[in-house]
Amino acid sequence: MKKIFYLEPYVYKQIEDDNFLLYNSLTGKYRFKKNEDELFFFKKFLHKDYIVLDNFFNQTISDFINYLKNNFFGEIRESVEEKHYQHSPNIVTAFDEEDYHNKSLSDFISDLTIYINGECTKSCACSFCKTAYKQFPFCTKLENTELKYKEIEDILSNFHPKYLLNININGGNILNHSEFESIVYFLNNYIPKKNYYINNKNLSFENVNKIHSIGSNSQLIILFSSIPSSSEFHNVKILLENINIPLKWTFVIKSEKDFKLIDNLKIFDLDYNLYPFINSKNKSFIKKNVLLNLKEILSIPKLSYKQILEKNQFNLLLWGKTYILNNKDFYLNLNSVKLGTVFIDNIYDPILNIIINGHKGVWYLTRNVVLPCKHCVYRIFCPPISNYELFSKKYNFCNIKKKLL
Ligand code: SF4
Ligand code: SF4
Repeated sequence: MKKIFYLEPYVYKQIEDDNFLLYNSLTGKYRFKKNEDELFFFKKFLHKDYIVLDNFFNQTISDFINYLKNNFFGEIRESVEEKHYQHSPNIVTAFDEEDYHNKSLSDFISDLTIYINGECTKSCACSFCKTAYKQFPFCTKLENTELKYKEIEDILSNFHPKYLLNININGGNILNHSEFESIVYFLNNYIPKKNYYINNKNLSFENVNKIHSIGSNSQLIILFSSIPSSSEFHNVKILLENINIPLKWTFVIKSEKDFKLIDNLKIFDLDYNLYPFINSKNKSFIKKNVLLNLKEILSIPKLSYKQILEKNQFNLLLWGKTYILNNKDFYLNLNSVKLGTVFIDNIYDPILNIIINGHKGVWYLTRNVVLPCKHCVYRIFCPPISNYELFSKKYNFCNIKKKLL
C-alpha cells in the first residue's frame, strides 16, 4: 500500500518564484511559505495533484504536511492505486459561444452612463475637471453639444430593462440641458434605477425646481469638487430641502487637510461617498492613505472557490459598465479607447468581440494579466483593478510592491 497525500479540491493553489499560496475556500484559512524548504517542496511536488509519501522528507516538510492535514488543506490516503486523489475545479468557459448570437447588446450591459451635455459655466481647476471623471463618477466639461432627448430614447430602446440596472445621467451641468425635463419624464417611466449627477456649484434657487420633476426610483448625487465649509454645505442643503428622492453626497479629497474639513460635516449625519483624487502633486498623500497594506489586503471576507475563479477571469468592478458621451462616442471605460460612435457604428460587434476574445477589454482586465500583480502571491485577496489604476497606468495599488504611482 502506498501513502498518498493530496490537496482537497476546495483548496486553491498558486505558485510564484518566491512564494506560494494555499487557500482553503471552506475555512478561509491561507498559508504562504514559511521557509525555503516549503517553497522547494511545493515547486517540486505540491503543484501536482497528489504526491506519494516516501520516507525522504525532512522534519520541516513532515511538519508542513501535518499542518496541511490538520487544517483540512489536504489528506493522506492509503491506496494501491496512485490515482486515488481528487481534482480541483477549473474554469472551462464562461459562456457558450453559440448563445451570444441569441443575445442583444443589453444582455451584457448592466450600468450605462450617459453624458447628456458637456457645458458648464463654472470653473474648477482645469486639471481636476479634465481628469476627475476618469477616476470616479463626476461631471466634466466636454465639447459643447447635447445628446438630444430623442437620441437618448433611441439608445435606450436597444436595452432590455431586465439586464440594465443603472442609468447614470451626467454631464457638464445637466440642469442646463435644453431638454432636461423631457429626458427626466421619459426616464421616470423607465424601470432601471436612475442616478443624476449635479455639481453643487451648478445648483441655484432658479434651477432647483427642475429637480422636482425627477421621479421615484432615482437618486440625486450632489458633487463637491472640494470639501465645503459647514456654512457652505448648509446653504446647499437648504436649497435641496424639499427634494423627495434620495440624496447622496460625493466629496473629493486631495490632501490630509481635507480629512479635518470632512470632520466638520459630521454634524449633518450624511450618507456620502468620499473619493480620493490623484494628481501629480499628492503622491505621498495617496500612498499613505489610499494604497492598501498587506493587513488590509488579507482582511477580506472568506472567498469561495467560485469567487476566486471569477476574480481570476473577470474584472467584477468594471464588468458590464459602459459610457456614452454627448458627442455619441461609446466607451467600455473612459480610460480606454473608444469603441465606436452610436448611430454611426455597429456597437454590438465590438462588444461581442470583447466577450468572445476576452483579453481585449477592461471587463477582462484582472490582476493575473498585469504586472506586477500577475507574479504576486496576494492577488486573489486584492480588489479588482479600478479606474484609479487605469488612470495612473500602474496596477499595484498597494504598499507591497515598489514603484507605485
Ligand atoms: S462643476 Fe464639474 S463640469 Fe463644471 S468645472 Fe467643475 S468639475 Fe468641471
Ligand atoms: S502587487 Fe498587485 S496583486 Fe500584489 S498586493 Fe499589490 S495590488 Fe495586490
